[in-house]
Amino acid sequence: MDNCLFCKIVKGEIPSDKVYENDEVYAFRDINPQAPFHVLVVPKKHVASVAETGLMTDGEIAACLRAVSLIASQAKLDGGYRVISNCGPDACQSVPHLHFHILGGRKMADRMA
Ligand code: 5GP
Ligand code: ZN
Repeated sequence: MDNCLFCKIVKGEIPSDKVYENDEVYAFRDINPQAPFHVLVVPKKHVASVAETGLMTDGEIAACLRAVSLIASQAKLDGGYRVISNCGPDACQSVPHLHFHILGGRKMADRMA
């Protein structure tokens, strides 16, 4: 996708604070962190959201969650962490490239919304 912000970050056309990368995924710190630890995990292949995971292989989908687990483990988020993927306008998704927020380093609110 030529005009996708996260595709440009994956390609290095826009700078980011990388925390992890492998063949399938790229992870970087959120520019507007909502917690002491706030990282975004994105597949390198462009898909818009969880709603489009039908366009991904099982391996590509699994790679995202395996990266979440590894990154949280390396960050020693031993008290736990929250994983969020906003999907579409009702969820206020602002960047239409699938991404998983990892939020940690503080106690989260006990409600989702
Ligand atoms: P969404 O609202 O789509 O679930 O999350 C998009 C996230 O991307 C937001 O938390 C926002 O702060 C982050 N973001 C937007 N633009 C940039 C950017 O240029 N660099 C980085 N590192 N994060 C960004
Ligand atoms: Zn993209």
